[in-house]
Amino acid sequence: MFRKVLVANRGEIAVRIIRACHELDISTVAVYSEADRESLHVHMADEAVCIGPAVPARSYLNIPALISAAKVTASEAIHPGYGFLAENAYFAKMCTTYGITFIGPTSRTIELAGNKIEARHIASQVGVPVIPGTEFPLVDEYQVKEAVKQLGLPVIIKASAGGGGRGMRVVHTSEEIMDIVARAQTEAENAFGRKDVYLEKYIEEPRHIEFQLLADSFGQVIHLGERDCSVQRRHQKLIEEAPCPVLTSEMRQEIGELSVKLGKAINLRSAATVEYLMDKTGNFYFIEINPRIQVEHGITEFVTGIDLVREQIRLAAGERLELKQEDISWVGCAMECRINAEDPDHDFRPSPGSLKNYLAPGGPGVRVDSVACPGYNIPFHYDSMIAKVIVHARTRPEAINRMKRSLKEMVVDGVKTTIPFHLRVLSNAFFIQGEVNTNFVQRRLGE
Ligand code: ADP
Repeated sequence: MFRKVLVANRGEIAVRIIRACHELDISTVAVYSEADRESLHVHMADEAVCIGPAVPARSYLNIPALISAAKVTASEAIHPGYGFLAENAYFAKMCTTYGITFIGPTSRTIELAGNKIEARHIASQVGVPVIPGTEFPLVDEYQVKEAVKQLGLPVIIKASAGGGGRGMRVVHTSEEIMDIVARAQTEAENAFGRKDVYLEKYIEEPRHIEFQLLADSFGQVIHLGERDCSVQRRHQKLIEEAPCPVLTSEMRQEIGELSVKLGKAINLRSAATVEYLMDKTGNFYFIEINPRIQVEHGITEFVTGIDLVREQIRLAAGERLELKQEDISWVGCAMECRINAEDPDHDFRPSPGSLKNYLAPGGPGVRVDSVACPGYNIPFHYDSMIAKVIVHARTRPEAINRMKRSLKEMVVDGVKTTIPFHLRVLSNAFFIQGEVNTNFVQRRLGE
């Protein structure tokens, strides 16, 4: 096992990783930008290194600074968390070059997963249903028109290198399509460094259902069931739950096994998530595979009792999966609300600032992952999530009540938050019935 791990991230996920390391008796190194000098992850780690100014390109995305920090502190491994460099194949390769273990899949796997067109190819080769769409990057008008003829409108244009819900556009009429393709290509090149875009059939009102995978370096891959992340706004997840309220155990087994096949096909090691859309008639379609820990991993931890970050570290250290597929079982219902410093009354605009007061909820079955505390100043340079409130209960209605109770108990003074929005969702009759899809927020709450 490693003696020392550097955490190449900030915020709640840095704290989450530090906790897992300390439980494994691993010493930790935090890195921080000048804006995060007083952040909780810096205080919790055994050592801390400043890696640059607030702007991410010069700190949390600064590969030479991170590798140097690992070297001077004699760290044996780097955990990238999510976001920032977690899916950067070059960073994973640089870690290996400098003799540091990257806690994640190999750079080749990250590369495959990061190219959505390629990932779709591999998925269909192993029998995973993919959304009908173009198999190559779009190049000319003829090809676009032919694709639209075959697929029928509406379609969605996606960047092959896209992520985080960005770079997607729904197209309803064929007159506008060429303009939108051109704009999407320029945007993709600016945002992701690659201009490849492709077309997919737009699925009306689907559920977003994703499967958690774990894999060791000996070719063993298992799945830990699914998470339903259908409550979204503008393709950003807001509430997640496990299990999915409408999935049967037969479907769980079938899609779980397909996901494992895909994991094996890309030589997965560590943790990854296979994302699907489920249409109104129950058909599943692969959308992408994320080769990293996800924000919403905590709900899977609650229902399976497995510490995913601990597993990532163990597996990166070359240990075997201790559990077989038949050892995995799921207990109760877990739910997560992402508490963002945003104003739900004003189009969810960011509300950065200082927390005058802060109190996290507690009690049975409640977990809060956060770096917030009274006086915490939310930097505007990074994402606006200030806490993840995660609850676990025996049944879904009990989980909903526990979440409502927790959010009412929570005190966040000084900035606007998404708590009132979450309380509205939790009291919505359709949500209570489990009738959600990715258009729920727009259609049922008018957001
Ligand atoms: P990203 O990598 O940016 O997160 P995804 O491909 O995972 O993008 O899609 C994010 C969300 O966008 C999905 O959860 C869903 O709400 C919506 N979406 C993506 N593809 C489609 C599609 N073909 N039809 C309808 N909605 C889609």
